[in-house]
Amino acid sequence: MKITEIGEFGFIDSIKTRFEKMIKEGQTGIGDDCAILPYNEKEDYIYTTDLLTEGVHFIKDDISPYDLGYKSLAVNLSDIAAMGGTPIGSFLSIAIPENTEKEYLDTLIDGYEHISKKYKTPLFGGDTTRAESSITINVGVIGVCPKGKEKLRNAATNDDVICTTGTLGDSAGGLKIILNKLKPEDNIREDFTYLLNRHYKPEPKIEEAKFLASCKGVNAMMDISDGISSDLKHIINKHQNAIINLDAIPVSKELATVSMQHGWNPADIAISGGEDYEILFTVHYENYNETAEKFQKKFGKKIFPIGNIIPGDSVIKWYSRGKEIKIKDSGFKHF
Ligand code: ADP
Ligand code: MG
Repeated sequence: MKITEIGEFGFIDSIKTRFEKMIKEGQTGIGDDCAILPYNEKEDYIYTTDLLTEGVHFIKDDISPYDLGYKSLAVNLSDIAAMGGTPIGSFLSIAIPENTEKEYLDTLIDGYEHISKKYKTPLFGGDTTRAESSITINVGVIGVCPKGKEKLRNAATNDDVICTTGTLGDSAGGLKIILNKLKPEDNIREDFTYLLNRHYKPEPKIEEAKFLASCKGVNAMMDISDGISSDLKHIINKHQNAIINLDAIPVSKELATVSMQHGWNPADIAISGGEDYEILFTVHYENYNETAEKFQKKFGKKIFPIGNIIPGDSVIKWYSRGKEIKIKDSGFKHF
C-alpha cells in the first residue's frame, strides 16, 4: 500500500496508536498543535516541530533566503500561539546541498534572527548536515502555558460560535501571484505587495491567542495552516457538525481587488487556501459578544464569526444566502 492511499492523517493516526499507551498522566502527544509536558506546579511546557522542504513548501528561486528563515520559525511560533502559549526558544536543523552559497545561508539566518528577536525566542540548538540536492529545514519550538489552560483543537462544545482572528486566503492569493508569475497593474501594486507579504512573512498570533485563551467561554483553538475546509475537521468531534456561513468568511479588500482583476473566486481561495496562520477558535455563544468587544478594545481589530458548532456526526456544512452549498475538502494535502 502506498502512503497516498492512507494520506497524511491516516499515517499520523497509525503512529499515534502505537505510542498512545506510553504517554504519562499530564502529558499529551500526537494530535494537537503542540504536545504538552508538565513543567512545574503552575506551568506546562509545550513543544512543536515543523518541516519545510524545498520543492514542497517553497521554491528556492521564489522566496528570498531572509523570508525563508523568517517563515520557518513563524510557522512554528504559530503552533505555540494556537495553544495559548508563550515561546521560550527554538531548535533549527538544516540539510544543505554542497553547492549552497554561504551568503544564502547567512541571509536565511538573518531572517531567522529577526523573528527570534521579535518574539524573544533564542535559538537553543539544532543540527546541520549535507543534503543530496534540496534544502530541508526543521524547526522545533518549546514554549510554556499556564497549567491545564492549553487550548486544544477538539474542545469545542455545542452552541459554540466558530471564529477566526483575521482574513483568510491572503497567503494563498500571494502564492497564486508567485506561481503564475503575475505582474501587477499600477493601480493594484500595493494589493500585490500585501498578499505576497502575507505569504512570505506570516505573523504568529501569539498575543491575540494568549488573550483569547484567557477569555471565558473560549473552548477550542488551532492555527490555520492547511485551509479551513481541511482544518475545521480537527475542531469537531464525532458527535458534532460545523455549520459555516460562506457569506461571513472574512476576505481582505486586497484579495478581493486582485481576485476581481484576475477572475479568481476569493471565497474559494479563502476556504481552501493554506498558510494564513490566523487562529481558528470557538467561543460559547453566551460569551461571544463580550469576547469580541474585549478583543476589539485590546487589539483594535475584529474577530470574525463564521459559523456554529451543533450536534451531529462530524460533517462540515456550508451555507450561502441560507442555502446549503456542496464543497469538497480542498485544503492543502501532502499526499
Ligand atoms: P500542524 O499543522 O499544527 O503542524 P499537523 O496537522 O501537521 O499539525 O500534525 C497533526 C499532529 O500530528 C501533530 O500533533 C503532530 O505533532 C503530529 N505528527 C505529524 N507528523 C508526525 C510524525 N511523523 N510523527 C509523530 N507525530 C506526527
Ligand atoms: Mg498548527
